[in-house]
Amino acid sequence: MNSNEYPEGIKVLIDEERIAERVARLAKQLEEDLDALQGPVTLVPVMTGSMLFTSDLIRHLQRPLRIAPVTVQSYPGSSTRSRGARLQTPIPDALKDTHVVIIDDILDSGGTLAVLRRLMKAVGPASVRACVLLRKNVEHDITAICEYTGFDIPDRFVVGYGLDYDGLYRNLPFIGTLPEHLIGVEDAEA
Ligand code: 5GP
Ligand code: MG
Repeated sequence: MNSNEYPEGIKVLIDEERIAERVARLAKQLEEDLDALQGPVTLVPVMTGSMLFTSDLIRHLQRPLRIAPVTVQSYPGSSTRSRGARLQTPIPDALKDTHVVIIDDILDSGGTLAVLRRLMKAVGPASVRACVLLRKNVEHDITAICEYTGFDIPDRFVVGYGLDYDGLYRNLPFIGTLPEHLIGVEDAEA
């Protein structure tokens, strides 16, 4: 097997080493910023895609913090196009008066983060910021909606390191691109 190729033709876009280095630096930057604030901190990982990113990130954070995951579904089943973000769990009341850090795997249209920020306002957090590992579509004015970004990537459908296609590939330790032949007919034609 070619070292750059996973079975089924998945190509490595960002390898484990680069992910680990970037996550450590992101955590340092986040911790410095959080240390400058008064009051409790709650991390809100967006499940399931940010599971691996969150678990690596938090191991670099020394400060006290709470974790309150939410589940959002935007790509149901074997789809690679967003059908609009749908929150599947309530926003936790415990976010009230805390500094919230939303953690997501990837920022594409920005719809997921926009929905979460809007719903969170009702609970009354002290502040809200967002941290994403990957960012697509950099031409969007997204600086306003995402304060911390790991990598800017091309507009390709990616899997691995928590990200799935139809529930698969989350366990890959790298970020990879999916070959066309693995993407369903519905999406290829969309
Ligand atoms: P947005 O709401 O910003 O358009 O999309 C964000 C969500 O869509 C992410 O949390 C992720 O669940 C999903 N998403 C966007 N692009 C990709 C991708 O390339 N691969 C995978 N697996 N999910 C993606
Ligand atoms: Mg997601």
